[in-house]
Amino acid sequence: MFRKLRTLFGGRRCEFCGKASSEAQRYEDETGRPIHVCFQCVPYAERRGYPKR
Ligand SMILES: [Zn+2]
Repeated sequence: MFRKLRTLFGGRRCEFCGKASSEAQRYEDETGRPIHVCFQCVPYAERRGYPKR
């Protein structure tokens, strides 16, 4: 239970694959909402044209 709470509130969760990553990059989606993208999904965010923060 403790671990579950920590992933809910503490970790940065990748917007695309849903994994928590400490090396996540920050992007904005098309609505301007800040999202986190892990390094594996960065090319995906770039291809979608999400601006980097
Ligand atoms: Zn990812």
